[in-house]
Amino acid sequence: MAVTRSIQTTIAIKINTMKLDYIALAIPFFAFFMCLEYYISKKRNKEIHRFNESVANLNVGIVERISDLLTTGLFFFVFNWLYQNFAFFSIQSTFTTWILLFLATDFLWYWYHRSGHLVNLFWAAHIVHHQSDDFNYTTAARITVFQAVARGLFWSILPMIGFEPEMIFSLLLIHGAYPFFTHTQLVGKLGWLEYIFVTPSHHRIHHSSNDEYLDKNFGDVLIIWDKIFGTFAEETVQPKYGLTKSLESHSFLWQHFHYALELIVAFRMAKTIKQKLKVIFGSPQNIDPRIRTLLERKLSQKNTTIEYSENLIKAIKVKTSVSMLVLFFTILFSHYISINNLFFITSFIVLSVIATGAMLEQRQWVFHLEFVRFTLVCILLSSVFPIDYVIGLSSFLVLVWLLFYNSLQTKYRAYLFQTE
Ligand SMILES: [Zn+2]
Ligand SMILES: [Zn+2]
Repeated sequence: MAVTRSIQTTIAIKINTMKLDYIALAIPFFAFFMCLEYYISKKRNKEIHRFNESVANLNVGIVERISDLLTTGLFFFVFNWLYQNFAFFSIQSTFTTWILLFLATDFLWYWYHRSGHLVNLFWAAHIVHHQSDDFNYTTAARITVFQAVARGLFWSILPMIGFEPEMIFSLLLIHGAYPFFTHTQLVGKLGWLEYIFVTPSHHRIHHSSNDEYLDKNFGDVLIIWDKIFGTFAEETVQPKYGLTKSLESHSFLWQHFHYALELIVAFRMAKTIKQKLKVIFGSPQNIDPRIRTLLERKLSQKNTTIEYSENLIKAIKVKTSVSMLVLFFTILFSHYISINNLFFITSFIVLSVIATGAMLEQRQWVFHLEFVRFTLVCILLSSVFPIDYVIGLSSFLVLVWLLFYNSLQTKYRAYLFQTE
């Protein structure tokens, strides 16, 4: 009895002194609103979620979150270095300076976002956010680490002005959370708030490809910048969501890199230095749309079958849920994970997400990725629990998989794609 109590006390002390990263709670928090939106839309008989679109959106966001673990420290280091070496003023933390910082971050966001649409180099990163033909809270998750880099570039002006990096990072949390709530079709116009803040109505315009709505409403929290700089549009007709030329692909890799490839082709085709520079820094409107068609024919191999077997849907749901759980616990316990293990976990998540995209596209080669994922799990387990039993069992299981590779592959394909 006394021993049990002592163990319980030890566990309680350990839990109390544990250094957890509570930013992980953002995952169940946002997941709750996604489920709530889904539930309400069903009740109102509004079809605003497609299975493949929602899964693809979530998977893009999962990779962004895990990459963030690796890049946030780097951004903090760079911001701190700029602050220590180049700060123009020494700005103290007061109510007025917090307001000024909020205005400055939102103003810079406006220009970062506007450049994201008007400069090819930045559009190559931001395009991913606009690829979904659906518009709901899952679309908000559709952001990439490349966007974070572009944004960081704009925000690096702040430490040089003299704002402390701690202040900047606290405020960036608002810029991370606020836009989530503007990605919904369930909230109508919001009265006087429409004059000051970016609302769901404003952001619906931003995500639509109607001619009159193109390149409008770039603001993040405040809509005033769009009004000042002439890019404001009000929602008058029903928006049509997604890119002007729909991507029609849920392949994770294609979504992330198709535009960069289009730019490479356009760059090679450009004859003069001026034309080449225009490919990098010019407007996306000047990139020949036939390049995408050409690349699609070569690389994307569009799959016209959109019927998924029940097993495939089940497998995609399980895979996405596992990725989200791994992400949640990795962030929560990030202070206890070595950089090597973090690398393995990130690789596992990236491969899982690529595999999910391949499943949505019904690619048969997904089995090979499953093998690599399994091997990674075995390596990770052996690294976390370096005891003979775990290492031996992991090696044995990988060996068994290799020995029965072909027959396992046939069974796997038959199960997912019902090919037999
Ligand atoms: Zn945008
Ligand atoms: Zn958006």
